[in-house]
Amino acid sequence: MAAAANTVLVRTRFAPSPTGYLHIGGVRTALFNWLFTRRHGGQFILRIDDTDQQRNVEAALAPILHGFRWLGIDWDEGPEVGGPHAPYYQSQRQAQYQAAVERLLADGFAYRDYAKTEEIAVEREAAEKEKRPFLYSRRFMATSDADRRRFESEGRTAVVRLKMPRDGTLAIDDQIRSRVEFDWAREQDHVIQRADGSCLYHLANVVDDHDFEITHVIRAEEHLSNTPRQIFILESLGYERPVYAHLPYVAEPGSKTKLSKRKLDKYLKNRDFAQICEHGRAIADALGFHPEAETFNPVIVDFYEQVGYLPDAILNYLALLGWSLDDRTEFFTRQQMIDSFTLDRVNRAPASFDPKKLWAFQDHYMQELPLEEKVERTLPFLERARVVASPSGDKVRRRLRQVIEAAGDRIKVAGDILDYADFFLPDDSVRYDEAAFDKQLRREAKATERLQRFRDRLAAAETFDPAELERLLQEFVTAEGIAVGNIIHALRVAVTGKSVGFGLFDALAILGRNASVARIDRAIGRR
Ligand code: GLU
Repeated sequence: MAAAANTVLVRTRFAPSPTGYLHIGGVRTALFNWLFTRRHGGQFILRIDDTDQQRNVEAALAPILHGFRWLGIDWDEGPEVGGPHAPYYQSQRQAQYQAAVERLLADGFAYRDYAKTEEIAVEREAAEKEKRPFLYSRRFMATSDADRRRFESEGRTAVVRLKMPRDGTLAIDDQIRSRVEFDWAREQDHVIQRADGSCLYHLANVVDDHDFEITHVIRAEEHLSNTPRQIFILESLGYERPVYAHLPYVAEPGSKTKLSKRKLDKYLKNRDFAQICEHGRAIADALGFHPEAETFNPVIVDFYEQVGYLPDAILNYLALLGWSLDDRTEFFTRQQMIDSFTLDRVNRAPASFDPKKLWAFQDHYMQELPLEEKVERTLPFLERARVVASPSGDKVRRRLRQVIEAAGDRIKVAGDILDYADFFLPDDSVRYDEAAFDKQLRREAKATERLQRFRDRLAAAETFDPAELERLLQEFVTAEGIAVGNIIHALRVAVTGKSVGFGLFDALAILGRNASVARIDRAIGRR
């Protein structure tokens, strides 16, 4: 297979409906298409399945295209980039579909059917009662112009149906499922054109795949059952069969049921899933936006961008959702993924979305990220939250570098930088965790007196680096006859506003003498 694909030009497609959001399972399908295509030096096409679209297509498509761009999954033909087979929107391809319908009718592979819905329903019910597969009697099939006139004079209107085979089997050699057989007798005479002239999806799908010269149809498993009718259409039109690969779906955390964006309440019972959501919400709060529950959801890609995950981490995680190179390798660069991706290593069983594993990948990629890239990723969060002015200057960048280095692996996603917003705020705008302030500074009368005395030592310190600050503090606690714990908590709340964070001496050194002293003064004065 791989050898053949190397010599044949590979053209694949991902065909989203403009739904307004990019589902994680959809990205996984697109990613497998993309990896396969890039491995074989082929072309990856985005086609927009908007035949049944009521809404504004561009608006509903924008988040999908944006999501792909954010992830770095690029397409060679399709919306925004164009291509030799344009238009890539099904809603603009009616003429091509109409021509295919005419040919199928002319060649006897389709017929005009004048049955009324009720008449079909009666036949279907009878079949159900007798427990046999339903096969339409074709009683209202028009085989001549005379038939048509007669039916029309009775006030009937026609749909176009496929004249499907009624015996024998169809075998498909699926690249993932191996050989799959279907009985033709279980297929219906599917409608391909409605009475109003609009064409149905399966016809459009086949015509587009042919027109776009698609060689490999790699798509979700739920389309396997549609494949017989699509093969019937394409073979009737004299088209060549593409290679099929039906991917198992992405399942819910800890189950085999398909992952859905509508079952958030259920998934929140999973601890890891809930943690990812909560963490995301905290960042949204810090950014000052109130996301819709609909789209601010780890099942939807947008969530990860909003919160500041790394596209490489998401792609690496998704690549392993149903595919593996071996039992060991977990981390792949994009190029390594491209170099190693083959369809025969795709699992047949559904792969469960595992938030904990995704988090671990994110953590790994974040820790590996060079300092300057961390600065680039985190700075927009400070700007968006209006913690710093936008565009920000060198001073902000310098401080950001220091904070990122001091915070180390505490910054798991770019939005976590907002935990350290107070390092960027003016000294008189530090926001206190009031409970911590109460406990450390209000309830303990002695604490502020001590803090005042230590403040004076800080003000007189010769240098202001972490080692010297630590020495000063040791000296101070010895002189006071107290434990370190009796001062550092109050000191931390006073300068950072919070009771948790990275090393206190690093914090003081980053802020510098003037800011540290000013913040302590403000905290003491605030009691
Ligand atoms: N628009 C279809 C879907 O979203 C794609 C069907 C196909 O890949 O053939 O499921």
